[in-house]
Amino acid sequence: MTDVTTFEQLGLHAATLKQLATIGYEKPSPIQAALIPIAITGKDCIGQARTGTGKTAAFMLPTMEQVDPSLPRVQALVLAPTRELSEQVYAESKRLAGNLKLKFALGVGGRPMGRQIDDLRGGAQIVIGTPGRVIDLLKRGHLKLNDLFIAVLDEADRMLDIGFRPDIERILKQCPADRQTLLLSATLPPEVMKLAQRYMVEPESVDLSEDRVVVDTIEQFYVTVDEDRKTALLLRVLAQEKPSQVIVFTRTKRGADKLLEIFSKRLKSGRIAAIHGDLPQRKRDQVIRDLRSGELRLLIATDVVGRGIDVSGISHIINYDIPEYCDDYVHRVGRTGRLSSDQNGRAVTFVTLAQGGELTNIEKRINTVLPEYKVEGFEAFRKKERPTRNIKKFGGE
Ligand code: AMP
Repeated sequence: MTDVTTFEQLGLHAATLKQLATIGYEKPSPIQAALIPIAITGKDCIGQARTGTGKTAAFMLPTMEQVDPSLPRVQALVLAPTRELSEQVYAESKRLAGNLKLKFALGVGGRPMGRQIDDLRGGAQIVIGTPGRVIDLLKRGHLKLNDLFIAVLDEADRMLDIGFRPDIERILKQCPADRQTLLLSATLPPEVMKLAQRYMVEPESVDLSEDRVVVDTIEQFYVTVDEDRKTALLLRVLAQEKPSQVIVFTRTKRGADKLLEIFSKRLKSGRIAAIHGDLPQRKRDQVIRDLRSGELRLLIATDVVGRGIDVSGISHIINYDIPEYCDDYVHRVGRTGRLSSDQNGRAVTFVTLAQGGELTNIEKRINTVLPEYKVEGFEAFRKKERPTRNIKKFGGE
């Protein structure tokens, strides 16, 4: 798998190769090298990959290769957890398609349905959307899946987190049984595997563990700190790192609000915000827009909301509170180090002395021992000793 170094080796058409060169894709990313050759044969496939690894092209290129552009019917459907992500997949697909005569339709909530219906009537072959709106379009008879032969579940773990399971199942039941199903997910918890078992046929899993991807593109550190010195440490780390954009993760909404209060006094307004589950969707959208435009420099987030953030300019992740679950670590850190950014992402995890065991669990999960982060000029830092943990060797089996 790893010796695939060119797109030519993946079995793509010449026109696609030309388009990839035009948009500056020089070589396949690991998930593309692993997934494309399998998916292009029509086999069901599970790809463990997070956003920023090139996963969109990994499922979209083999999809586009198989779709018949001369047939004005829906042949492929991509389900994604949020409007944001759907729009992003849509934009990326159009870029990948270039001059190829393929038509795409977007089916997401919060946008007028008229345009979406027009696109479907206009003969779109590939539909990208959120489960809720896709169900609406199906119910109203605007979307027909009789000719569909590829279904893609993008960020399956997040879709299940959000509670889309019933909608996804309803949609998949309306798809022809002999279709190909591709499932992409940053993590593969039992619920995702259950969905795969029920709706996929002998899926092949791509041999590319999330851990490796994280480690490859992101420099990760831990730093020990006393609970009452976390804010001071955060200020130091920010001064030292000078991040272009940073997300600071807290475990609780209250913690997020408290930090916002502290930082609002120090930073120009409009450059800092907090995002958590209590914030109305409209406000959350605004925060993400500001983040994307680059206006927002520091975002404080909790896990549930933070893991949905998908913005390419983020240079740093700071785990102000160590995540409660190891998978959350992967999700959090996955918000940076994207393929498209020219610098590697950096992640720093704050660990109190009592949290050594939690740090060890994360290190086991990513199969890497994190180096310690050095804070210049933080002499007053009451550093005692490293948290006790077994750093000798992990996994390997
Ligand atoms: P994704 O994980 O699909 O969200 O992709 C992350 C970013 O990487 C997007 O901006 C893509 O355009 C870019 N990208 C994906 N594949 C490649 C590639 N092979 N070479 C260069 N950039 C890529």
